[in-house]
Amino acid sequence: MRRSFDYLPAPGATLPGPGERVRVPFGRQRAIGIVAAHADASELPRAQLKSVTKAIDTTPLWDESTFGVLRWAADYYHHPLGDVLFGALPRMLREGAAATHEETVWRISDAGRAALAAGTRLGRRQQALVEIVGDAGATAAQIADAGHGAALRSLAARGWLESSLRRPPPPPAGAGRAGPVLTVDQGAAVSAIGSSLGSFGAFLLHGVTGSGKTEVYLRVIERVLQAGRGALVLVPEIALTPQLVGRFRERLAAPVVALHSSLADSARLEAWRAARAGSAPVVIGTRSAVFTPMPSLGLVVVDEEHDASYKQQEGFRYSGRDLAVMRAQRAGIPAVLGSATPSLESISNAAAGRYVRLSLPERTGRAGKPRVTVVDLRINPARDGLSPPASAAIERHLADRGQVLVFLNRRGYAPTLFCTGCGWIAPCKACDARLTVHLSRARLACHHCGAEAPMPFACPQCASELAPVGEGTERVETALTQLFPAAPLVRIDRDVIRRRGDMEAALASVADGRARILLGTQMLTKGHDFPDVTLVVVLAADQGLFGADFRASERLAQQIVQVAGRAGRGDRPGEVLIQTSYPEHPLLKCLITAGYDGFAALALDERRAAGWPPYAHLALLRADAPSRPEVNAFLEEAAAAAPAARRAGIRMFGPAPAALARRAGRHRAQLLVESASRGALQAFLAGWVEAIGSLKPPRQLRWSLDVDPAEVD
Ligand code: ADP
Ligand code: ZN
Ligand code: ZN
Repeated sequence: MRRSFDYLPAPGATLPGPGERVRVPFGRQRAIGIVAAHADASELPRAQLKSVTKAIDTTPLWDESTFGVLRWAADYYHHPLGDVLFGALPRMLREGAAATHEETVWRISDAGRAALAAGTRLGRRQQALVEIVGDAGATAAQIADAGHGAALRSLAARGWLESSLRRPPPPPAGAGRAGPVLTVDQGAAVSAIGSSLGSFGAFLLHGVTGSGKTEVYLRVIERVLQAGRGALVLVPEIALTPQLVGRFRERLAAPVVALHSSLADSARLEAWRAARAGSAPVVIGTRSAVFTPMPSLGLVVVDEEHDASYKQQEGFRYSGRDLAVMRAQRAGIPAVLGSATPSLESISNAAAGRYVRLSLPERTGRAGKPRVTVVDLRINPARDGLSPPASAAIERHLADRGQVLVFLNRRGYAPTLFCTGCGWIAPCKACDARLTVHLSRARLACHHCGAEAPMPFACPQCASELAPVGEGTERVETALTQLFPAAPLVRIDRDVIRRRGDMEAALASVADGRARILLGTQMLTKGHDFPDVTLVVVLAADQGLFGADFRASERLAQQIVQVAGRAGRGDRPGEVLIQTSYPEHPLLKCLITAGYDGFAALALDERRAAGWPPYAHLALLRADAPSRPEVNAFLEEAAAAAPAARRAGIRMFGPAPAALARRAGRHRAQLLVESASRGALQAFLAGWVEAIGSLKPPRQLRWSLDVDPAEVD
């Protein structure tokens, strides 16, 4: 709900402060609320105001500056404050768990021991609980996680379990091992950031893969810790591996905790509490960790700042990267944004002097820059995705005992199943999309809605033979194992890497040299070290060149540079082959001849000419519903409801169907709002969201507003 509710303080109790949780009556239910602010007056007469039932916290959940960031973000993204605040909390806090570090520990009481010794029979669940509690005791959170809440209540009621409060020991401190002697460039970066400690400054650390960016973060964090302050390090979802956390723990002499969504609820709560209490001064986390309260925060780092996973794509659609900079600004501390392929936004911020640019142009190892060659697919047609020069290069590198990385950002066997007789293409029934062939499972799958169907044997229209057209990783795997039967291959994509452990196992086989060929999607391009890879082959560089989205070419360039950066990281020089049917495409040509900086300059020129970000500011109103007329009617109404008084400097485009006009049976369309002025756009949106909120769309229609959308197609 886009509003807050007024309550009186609980009778006789102290007034709970902003940022503290309270239990309140809500309609006929009870709910947990967070105090947003104190008010002197209410629209409701005093007699109708209800009182807070009970305060949960005695101090605010967040420090003042972080709470300020949350409130600012609710305003900026025009998202309900309640959803912003609750979304920033681990689940157990949303449900009322204590925010302080003390936890309730349950142990078997003397009475319980006596009863057990006397051979009292317990129920199955009670028996399981007794085993969990054991001699060491178990925390209330652990018991709740294991689903033994009911058994706990019954045994506690009998007095066989007893509880006490315990302050858990802080997480163990790291080893504090010394790092390598810094290179000149690293040293310059560390002292530039170091001299800004204690005041706001944003730094763009542009360093090629393997240039030692992580080492720079570690050195600056060491200084921050020496000054008695803490550091928050954001990393892309897929990069938060035990290796990375291990590296921080080895180098830093202070407790380091990781915060991400695949932690068990109680572990996440525990890490959050340790961060808030200051007992873990270093937090490494994904996007949402930007909201972690940390006393005396001294530094914010955003690694691989260009990464798309920093943007939340549903519900509260915020940019973790942008909020990290905002947080640093409000806290008066430096923010470091690191990347081998910075976003065009950050490059333009640096060019405008808003960020200080620091460069690490050299790799730390002995190997120089990889040699990049383009393979023209019109002259060298590919079979199963592989052109003859690519196969020859793979053979050569394998013979030289090198490892080979093959990159194709498309999973499955083939993206299309095609009828050789009538031209029928297997469609998804629920989406305007084709089904992808997954040959090993003999199934067709929609990569947009997840629908699956068995593979038909013949064309349903004319009974002719069907042919898979195009290639995904599964098909390339088959081709590579046939061509190079002696070279063990690991494939890394979402079809084969399903759980965290799968990735670890795949990476281990690469690290110890068992695997000679690595084949994968963009899962491969994120932050992993492959020191023995000497050849990188990019199979289809064209996928992003003609994408509908204005960021498509930026993403493509980032992927190519990121994956190319995996070659030759140790002491062996690398080679990169890029297959394309459009070698003369200006952006691709520029990327190859002038590198990422050259590409970025050209791409920014194009953005400026076309009036796209960062030279304009965007917001996207998306809507979807089971029928197209409903969606269109709603968007027309929304467009008409735009506040006339605030339309100066605002341009509105649409309604237009989304690039994928139907997904999972729902029709999708959007209105794009653009302005050269962020302030004008914000003023407009504030009035518009209110106006949209008072429309009465059909029940099944869903809409959302995306400020600074990552994609507009
Ligand atoms: P990035 O984060 O830019 O990819 P890393 O910090 O991970 O780079 O460094 C790449 C490799 O080089 C790591 O194995 C790291 O230990 C090593 N390294 C970093 N800085 C130095 C240095 N100054 N001297 C020697 N080795 C270094
Ligand atoms: Zn047919
Ligand atoms: Zn579908």
